Amino acid sequence: MPALPEELEEALTEDVGINNSWGPKRILVKNGKVVGVEFIKCLSVFDENGKFNPVYDDANIKKVEADKVLLSVGQVIEWGNLIDGSKVSLNTNHTAKADSFTLQTDEPDIFVGGDVMTGPRFAIDAISFGKEAAISIHRYVQVGQSLTLGRDKRHFHSLDKDNLNLAGYDAIPREKAGHDKTAAPKSSFKDIRNTFTAEQIAKETERCLGCGVTVVDEYLCLGCGACTTRCKLDAISLKRAHDATGKVFEELKPVIVRAAIKRKGKIIAKKIKGVFKKK
Ligand SMILES: Cc1cc2nc3c(=O)[nH]c(=O)nc-3n(C[C@H](O)[C@H](O)[C@H](O)COP(=O)(O)OP(=O)(O)OC[C@H]3O[C@@H](n4cnc5c(N)ncnc54)[C@H](O)[C@@H]3O)c2cc1C
Repeated sequence: MPALPEELEEALTEDVGINNSWGPKRILVKNGKVVGVEFIKCLSVFDENGKFNPVYDDANIKKVEADKVLLSVGQVIEWGNLIDGSKVSLNTNHTAKADSFTLQTDEPDIFVGGDVMTGPRFAIDAISFGKEAAISIHRYVQVGQSLTLGRDKRHFHSLDKDNLNLAGYDAIPREKAGHDKTAAPKSSFKDIRNTFTAEQIAKETERCLGCGVTVVDEYLCLGCGACTTRCKLDAISLKRAHDATGKVFEELKPVIVRAAIKRKGKIIAKKIKGVFKKK
């Protein structure tokens, strides 16, 4: 059952009965009123390709009496008329089709990310997609900028788990939210959990491994070097990659003209060379 131990604990203290591996078959109704639910045994949830494809045993049926039936939230995207008249196209599960790198949809000035693109995932994924979509939009609105050129593809290599010493990391236990003592969990649907206190948030953030990993967008970095003085771990250093001095805008014209003539000359020379090679 995909739930945190404390969620199970909370459910049990509220006298919730847990029946795993049963799928709802139909709601039983008598004289226009609900009287129960019929469940069938679920034998497996995923198929051999790891896809959600539950298999049930029709012969194994269980009836549960009830005078109220609550359907828990199912996540599907309800677009309403948000994308009417646009070229945005959808997948069969109603998520928006988009380029996985640039997050651009079939409507060039619409970018998507998060659950609406991936289906249910994690908050951190949605945050990361939000950042990438913002980079795409920033580039999109700058005339002449490409969505992909010089962009960090964020291809990560997995850790060598056999050669890793994590002793000492994340030894602080996860914080648990306190409960609202005045709440009546058995007779209301109000969430009885409090938010974290300031002390709890401080403790929880201390659990961050603080590996110092950061990604610099070379196109946005001004090279001011402030980051090198901020990093407590001294993990950032600034290196001169090209030994060239820039020109102020007013003096740029002759430099560009000289470079353009040089470039044209090179192209012509290459073409002539090609003609002789063919002969
Ligand atoms: C019950 C549940 C528990 C979860 N637990 C966790 C967890 O413990 N950890 C974790 O990392 N993730 C968890 N998730 C997943 C996480 O919440 C999502 O992956 C994340 O919130 C997705 O962020 P999002 O910005 O893509 O979408 P959302 O957070 O869904 O934001 C979409 C926003 O768009 C608004 N909206 C919708 N339609 C319109 C419209 N037509 N016009 C204007 N606004 C609109 C919605 O009101 C909403 O505010 C959980 C999800 C659920 C449902």
